[in-house]
Order: sequence, then structure tokens, then C-alpha cells
Amino acid sequence: MAQIAISNLKKHYAGVYAVDGVELTVQNGEVLALLGPSGCGKTTTLSLLAGFAKPDEGEIRVGERVLSSPSGIVPPEDRHMSLIFQSYAVWPHMTVFENVAYGLGVRKVARSEVAERVERVLDSVHMKHLAQRYPSELSGGQQQRVALARALVVEPDILLLDEPLSNLDANLREQMRFEIRRLHDTTGITMVYVTHDQAEAMVTADRIAIMNLGKVEQVGTPHEIYELPQTAFSASFIGRMNVLAGTLVDECAVQCGPVTVRAASSVELVRGSKAVVCIRPQHVVVGSANGSGPSGTNALSGTIARQTYLGEIRDYLIEIPGGLQLRAVTDPGVVHEVGSEVTLNLPVERCRIVEV
Ligand code: ATP
Repeated sequence: MAQIAISNLKKHYAGVYAVDGVELTVQNGEVLALLGPSGCGKTTTLSLLAGFAKPDEGEIRVGERVLSSPSGIVPPEDRHMSLIFQSYAVWPHMTVFENVAYGLGVRKVARSEVAERVERVLDSVHMKHLAQRYPSELSGGQQQRVALARALVVEPDILLLDEPLSNLDANLREQMRFEIRRLHDTTGITMVYVTHDQAEAMVTADRIAIMNLGKVEQVGTPHEIYELPQTAFSASFIGRMNVLAGTLVDECAVQCGPVTVRAASSVELVRGSKAVVCIRPQHVVVGSANGSGPSGTNALSGTIARQTYLGEIRDYLIEIPGGLQLRAVTDPGVVHEVGSEVTLNLPVERCRIVEV
């Protein structure tokens, strides 16, 4: 069993907590993505998992085995984990076959078995036909496939990946996300995948842990993280989101300056506490002002401050009362000129209140 349990993990550098009380469980056979902005502690968490650093507090277990705690760490080579970085780190003087076979040689695997295992894993990353090439004769994507094959051939319990696709161009990066997910589905290996790219996390992971300032803000499936953000940070980090700050006036409504926004679901916050209300731009309903003022729940009037044609959508920035602004996207055929008055509706079932 390769279930990972991380409890109260802390690591500080020069007085700053890079990892500040992380609690996470990764199920056996699951892909968990650590997603967050630069400096939020993703790589430090992964180094602690790999055994490159010792935690100041907390522990990491795999199954029943404690791998890291302040009293000591199991060295990286005894953890049954493989690690892949953004630099492919394949050896230039070895062929693809030799690169992949290397780890088996170190482990004194019989020669006949080496050939069979290397061929099988090269086949799985679609590189069998290039086995005799040198890295200089490969594209970036092909080199990263070699790195994947080399990590997988030793049959680790856990695969750790740190921004593995950042060095690839945009098209290849998109393609390789699906490849990594496919490889997971054929091997069933437990994976922890560090990225700052939300699309990459959504394609590859079963669950995503959103990190901010060394802490885990929220863990959930891509669907849960997108649809049901629990904090203002999660809401604004995943996809585009309007976030209006205000004060809770009842369990389903936030007063944002002169605007009261109601949500369908209630929150367990005390009336009067600070809260934000979130709505995605594609859920804001924009209509032409027809002379009469806004009426109904969450109806507002607004003025178009900017409109941009983006081919598939039209993107609007709209000024609303109280000096606030909203983003809205519409069908590209819907045109409201800059300066024109519009009516806005924020459907209550699309509005979500979260604590600050
Ligand atoms: P990125 O996406 O930019 O790689 P990250 O989320 O992986 O960022 P970490 O590399 O884990 O973030 O760094 C977290 C914090 O800890 C940062 O403020 C960083 O400057 C600091 N830090 C990390 N390693 C060290 C170190 N060896 N010495 C001092 N500070 C460090």
C-alpha cells in the first residue's frame, strides 16, 4: 500500500515557514496535484516527501512506515519513490535504452529481465522505436518521456513530479498532460504532481490541493475546487472569478458597498463578519438597459468600461455602483459598446459566499 499521510508538516528557512502545518492524505493509486502560486511551498513539500529535507515538525507516513519526522528521515533511496523534475536530467552520453536501463543495473537486476522491462516501459511512453537514439537526437517532449520511463522502470511505489512539463512548448505541454494521465491509468501508481498550472492539475489529478503561504487552503476533485471554492484564495486562483468583498448581512447575503448580493446557499458565519461573494464571469447575465431601473434579486445597473472580442467569447469589464467592477463574458455576437448602460443579473444559485 502506498497511501501517504502527511500530518502537521512544517519546514522553515531563515525564520519563514515554507511549509506551515500541511495536512494531506494521498490514497493508494491516486494522483494528487499540489497547485499554487510561486513560493507557496509546493517544492518544499515535495522535497520533504522525497526525503531531501528533514521537517521541523510533523511527520510523513507511507502505509504504516514513518518516513520523515523531526527525529529522522528515511534516505531518498530507501523510500521506493521516483522523482521527475522540469529539467529532464537524462544522461547525454547514454542512449535512450541505456538511460532507462541504468536504474535496473544499479539494482543488480538480471540482464534478460532488464531488456524486457526497459522495452515494456519504453513501449508505454511510445519511445520503443527510438531506443538507440542519444538525447541530443530527441525533442524536448521525447526527452521528458525518457525521464518518465526511467522513473517508472524501477517500479516505484510512488512517483513525485515537480513541474515536469514547464520546459515544453504550449502544444506539447497540453499533449503530455494527457500522456501522464494515461500512464497513470495503465500503471495505477500513486502520484504527487507539483504544478502552478491549473489546467495541468485538472487534467492529471484525481484531487487537487490548493496551497497558499505554506498551507493547504482546500483539497478536492477538480470539479469541487472549481464549483465549490471554500476560501477567497481558492475562488480567485482557479479560473476567472468576480470576488466582491463586503459584510455578511444575513446567512445568505453580503453587503458590498451599496450593493446587496444574495446567494442560494448559506454560510456558517456570524452576521457582521467580513465575507466575499463570488460569481464567475460566464454566469453574469448582461442585458441592454431599457430605461427602467434594475428590479429583482441581484439585479444591478452597470456601465461598460471595456469590451474585448476574443473569438470564442466577448469579455466585458463593467462598472457597477459603489466604484465596483465586474467581469462578464458573453457570446461574441452580443455587443455592448464602451460607455453604454446595461442591466446585470447575478443569478443567486451562481453566487457563492465564502469567508475571507
Ligand atoms: P515555485 O512554484 O516558484 O517553485 P514553490 O511553491 O515550489 O514555488 P518553494 O520552492 O517550496 O515554493 O518555496 C517556498 C518558500 O520557501 C519560498 O518563499 C522560498 O523562497 C523559500 N525557500 C525554499 N527553499 C529555500 C531554501 N533552501 N532556503 C531559503 N528559503 C527557501
